[in-house]
Amino acid sequence: MNPIESNLNFAVASKNQMKGKCFCGKHRFVISGEPYRVVHCHCKNCQRSVGAAFVTWIVIKRNQYAIKPEAKRHQASNQAIRTFCDTCGSSLTYAHPERADYLDITAGTINHPNSLKPDWHIWGKRKVEWIKLHDDLPFYEQFPDN
Ligand SMILES: [Zn+2]
Ligand SMILES: [Zn+2]
Repeated sequence: MNPIESNLNFAVASKNQMKGKCFCGKHRFVISGEPYRVVHCHCKNCQRSVGAAFVTWIVIKRNQYAIKPEAKRHQASNQAIRTFCDTCGSSLTYAHPERADYLDITAGTINHPNSLKPDWHIWGKRKVEWIKLHDDLPFYEQFPDN
């Protein structure tokens, strides 16, 4: 068992961790260390997959994450792999082979999302018109190059 995985059993989260779970509580996970980035994604795949107008993702390195038990996967035609709870349907993660080091976690599943500081909006060209943004974050029409 790796150290992150063993942290799943700690009763109290350490300062440098974020914990979360799916809606029904079957899956519990821990993120160790700081997020690389927090991104609001307005793409159509996120809208459809999660069933929401947009999705906020916590972008981390894959080795910062551990979940128990392992979640079901769905791979889309663009090769992106999303995981979800097969009991309650919560969307849990997103991974793409072109971003092999990174894993995206749905911000709505962590226990204390107010601690997050979003960085960007992406896929702005797919944003639903009735979502009115009042933040000053960078707004990218697609996925930015950098
Ligand atoms: Zn669940
Ligand atoms: Zn998306």
